[in-house]
Formats: sequence, structure tokens, C-alpha cells
Amino acid sequence: MMGQILSGKEIAEKIKHETRIELERIKERGISPKLVAVQVGENPSSQVYLNAQKKNCQSMGILYETKNLEPGISESELISFIERLNGDKSITGIILQLPLPSGMDVRKVQSKIAPEKDVEGVNPANLGWILYGRPVLAPCTALAVKELIDSTKVDLYGKEVVMVGHSDIVGKPVALLLVDRFATVSICHIGTSDKGMLEQHVKRAEILIVAVGKAHLIKGDWVRDGAIVIDVGINKLGDKIVGDVEFETAIQHASWITPVPGGVGPVTTAILLRNTITAAKLISFNL
Ligand code: NAD
Repeated sequence: MMGQILSGKEIAEKIKHETRIELERIKERGISPKLVAVQVGENPSSQVYLNAQKKNCQSMGILYETKNLEPGISESELISFIERLNGDKSITGIILQLPLPSGMDVRKVQSKIAPEKDVEGVNPANLGWILYGRPVLAPCTALAVKELIDSTKVDLYGKEVVMVGHSDIVGKPVALLLVDRFATVSICHIGTSDKGMLEQHVKRAEILIVAVGKAHLIKGDWVRDGAIVIDVGINKLGDKIVGDVEFETAIQHASWITPVPGGVGPVTTAILLRNTITAAKLISFNL
């Protein structure tokens, strides 16, 4: 059986199209979303990411600004800066670009972003709403995974889902979002691998999601026949970008599989734009 490629590009275009319509609607009501990205110090790889964000926002008609702060800034100064952005009525969304300088408590700083401006869904209040089964501004990649799965029209009810990776912004929220759709979700991580159990879990998966960051960790022949495979990983292998799953062999078993690049990434970007509009509505309409 040869699976189909689950391209993120078309899904991203559909989300952007819907977002553009929503943006026009709120602009007619006098709301102008403005996203501010905060970067501490210089980081060439973040710069690539920030440039892409800016381009995406501008193409959509969303105001975008980058605030570059000195690398020597203290954690409390950074928090004060974020609190000023929270209080600025012209700003509707805030992104805190990672990494932060070593020694800073990332989670503490993220917790200071006003929840209704937290377009990346990293504030504990927004993560908490997912736990309640009522996501408001959830992490973009977790929502992207859900969109990709839903695009296959699979009925999640009772399905065996295996989530490999348990990060706060991908693995854990994905598991919660899918368990609320009554999937049977297992979460695997480094402990699973260290006990030699990863293959056994992966082989059970009707829906397999992998967010680890290790090239080809998941062997293609572990993939169950007919499984849907969502590969979140981004890894450099020689001069190529590859995922966490051995794509060439996995596609021979899967019904659907996301490519890397071109799968989860574009959908994540589109969801950031959608979250930006949601945030602007939350603030402006006091939702
Ligand atoms: P993370 O780096 O915070 O955590 C890695 C997870 O993998 C942990 O749960 C860890 O226990 C697990 N792990 C490590 N080694 C393992 C092994 N041998 N077997 C099983 N599990 C193992 O994770 P993250 O921030 O979710 O990032 C994961 C990957 O997803 C990275 O490659 C990252 O670049 C990528 N990513 C992509 C997007 C996107 O938009 N496409 C967004 C976010 C992250």
C-alpha cells in the first residue's frame, strides 16, 4: 500500500484565506491587529523566523513590529517590558522569541504575557484552557497537528493515537486536544525509548504523531498499515532537512503522511495568523 502525501501547503492556504476574510470583517468594525515580536539579543536562526513572520503578517495586512532588546537585559527588565506591551492598547498580540539568554526562566517570562495577547498559546492560562477542553489560544503547532489530522476526515473516536514527544507546546497539548475527541492516546518519550518500548508502541498507532527532533528516529517499517503519520520534527541531515520519521519506507505503510518540509510547518505559520486575529477579537470585544 502506498500512502498519500498530506501536504500542509493547501491546508495553510485554506486557513489563510479564512483568516483574511475574518480580518476584513474585524477591520470593518475598526479593529487593527498588531503583532509585536520581542527578541533578546541576536540570533541568526531566529532572525530567519522573524523575517518570515513579518512577511506573512504584511501579506495578510496585519501590522507587525520587532522589538530588539539588549542581550544583557535582566529577567525583571524583560518582564517589565512585556508588561508595558500588555498595557499598550495598540498592540493585540505578543510573541516572545526563543531562545532567551541562559539563566532566564522562560516559563516565568511567558507567564507574564497577557493571556489574551498570547498568540503562541504558551501562557499557563491558555495551556490550562486546553486541559479544560476549551482551547482559546492554543500553541500553533499543536493546533496544526489537529488540522492536519482532521483534513483526512478520520473519525478519532476510540482510535489508537501514539504521540512521541511530550514537550509543553507540542506533545502534551496535542495529546489533550485528541483525548477530548475520545481518541485513546499514549504519550511516549525518552523514557519509553530507554526501556526499549518505543517500537512496540509505534506499531500500535492508527494515528502516529512524532515531535522529538531526532532524524529518522521512527523506522518506516514500524508504521502500522493504514496509519496516519504526522511528522513534526525538523532536523538537518547533511544538506537536507528531514523529519523524525523515515519517510520513504513509512509512506509504503501509511495511508497519509506529512512531508518534511512542507507538512506541519506551513500550517503552524497559518495558525499563528489565525491566532493573531483571535487575540485581536478577544481584546477588542472583551471576550
Ligand atoms: P522538545 O525538544 O521540547 O522535546 C523533545 C521530546 O522528545 C521530549 O519529550 C523527549 O523526551 C523526547 N525524546 C527525546 N529523545 C527521544 C527518543 N530517543 N525517543 C523518544 N522520545 C525522545 O520537543 P519540541 O519542542 O516539541 O520539538 C520537537 C521537534 O519538533 C523538533 O525537531 C522541533 O524543531 C520540531 N518543531 C517543529 C515545529 C513546526 O512548526 N514544524 C514546531 C515546533 C517544534
